[in-house]
Amino acid sequence: MSNNEVKRHYAAKYDVTLIASTEVSGGLKGKCPAKAEFFWYAVSSARTFATGGSSTQELWRTSPGRLAAEWRIGPNHQECCCSYNMMKLTRHLHSWNGDPRYFDYYERNLFNHRLGTIHPETGHSVYFLSMAPGAWKGLCDEEKSFWCCTGTAFEEYSKLNDSIYYRDEKGISVNLFIASELDDSERVIGLRQDTRFPDEPRTTLTITKAPASSWTLRLRVPSWASAASVKVNGRALEVTPSAGSYLSVTRAWKKGDRVSLELPMSLVAEPFADEPGVQAFLYGPVVLAGDLGNQGLTDALVNNQQGPAVAKIPMSVPELRASGRKLEDWMKPDGSSPLTFRAATANGSVTLKALNQLWGRFAAYWTVS
Ligand SMILES: [Zn+2]
Repeated sequence: MSNNEVKRHYAAKYDVTLIASTEVSGGLKGKCPAKAEFFWYAVSSARTFATGGSSTQELWRTSPGRLAAEWRIGPNHQECCCSYNMMKLTRHLHSWNGDPRYFDYYERNLFNHRLGTIHPETGHSVYFLSMAPGAWKGLCDEEKSFWCCTGTAFEEYSKLNDSIYYRDEKGISVNLFIASELDDSERVIGLRQDTRFPDEPRTTLTITKAPASSWTLRLRVPSWASAASVKVNGRALEVTPSAGSYLSVTRAWKKGDRVSLELPMSLVAEPFADEPGVQAFLYGPVVLAGDLGNQGLTDALVNNQQGPAVAKIPMSVPELRASGRKLEDWMKPDGSSPLTFRAATANGSVTLKALNQLWGRFAAYWTVS
C-alpha cells in the first residue's frame, strides 16, 4: 500500500471523529451533509464486518469491499473507537432524516460489538475486537492500560440508554428493543417497553401517560424481520409490517394501551464479498460465534492486551460442514439456552453462541465446505 493511501485512509478514519464532533457543535448539517452520509454509507457497506465494526490495526489496509483480504492481514480488527464514532455519527444522521437503515446498522454494532466489549464482571474493556479464527478479547486493566478505547468505552456505556426512542412534533419513534421507560413530560407522553430481546423475538410497549389528542407511535421493523406482526390491545393490525421501515400507528392513545411487536428471527449467512467461502452467521441481528473454549489462554495473554496474540497459541479451527441446501438444515438450535446453535465440523461439531456472550476463544468467520 502506498504512503498516499495510508494518509488517505488515516484522513478518512479521522473524519469519523471530525464529522461527529463537528455535528455536535451544530456545524455539519448545514455545510456538508452529503459528505457525512456518503462516508457513513462507504464504511457501513464496504468496510464493515458482520458485527458492525471496522478497521485493522486502526487503519483500512485494502480497497473497499475486500474485507476478506483485510481479515487475513492480522488479528487486530475493529478498533472499538471506530464503532463508538460510527454509532455517534449514525445517531446524528438518523436525527436528520429518520431513515430506518441507520438503526439496522446501529443495532448490529450495539448488540454484537459494543455490548460484547466490556467484561460483565470486571468492567474492563477491549481495544480490538478480533475476527481471527481462535481469537479472544484482550482487556485493559486498572493500572497499566488506559487507551483511547478505554475512554470511549466509558462514554459508550454511559450512553446505552441513548437513542432507544426519538421524538418529533408528530410523536415517538421506537428505534431499539431494550427494556426501558420513556417519560416525555413536555408532551405528557409516557411508555414502558418490556422485553428480553434478543433472547426473545418480541417486545411489548405499554402506554403509561398520554395527552387527549392523537399522536403517532412509530415502530421500527428491522430489515431482518421479514415476518414481523403487530397487535394493539391484543388485536392484529390490518397492515403488514414492511421489513426495513417504520410502522406508524396514529390514534388517541390511552393509558394502559398495549402494543406488541413480534419479530421472528431466522438464520442468515454473510459471506465475505471477496471470498464467499468464508462466512459469518447471524440469527436476526445477533452474530453467532463458535465457542472454542479456553485452550492455551493465560491471564497474561488476556489482560493489558490490545488484541489477541493468536500466533502465540495457534489453534486449528475446523471447517463447517454444510449438509443441506438451507442453513436451517445443518445449523440447529442447541435447546440449552436462547441464541445457541450447533453445527457439524470437519472433525466433530461446534456450539455457536452470541458473540457478545463469549469471553474465551471464538471464531466468528468460518470456512464452509
Ligand atoms: Zn481506540
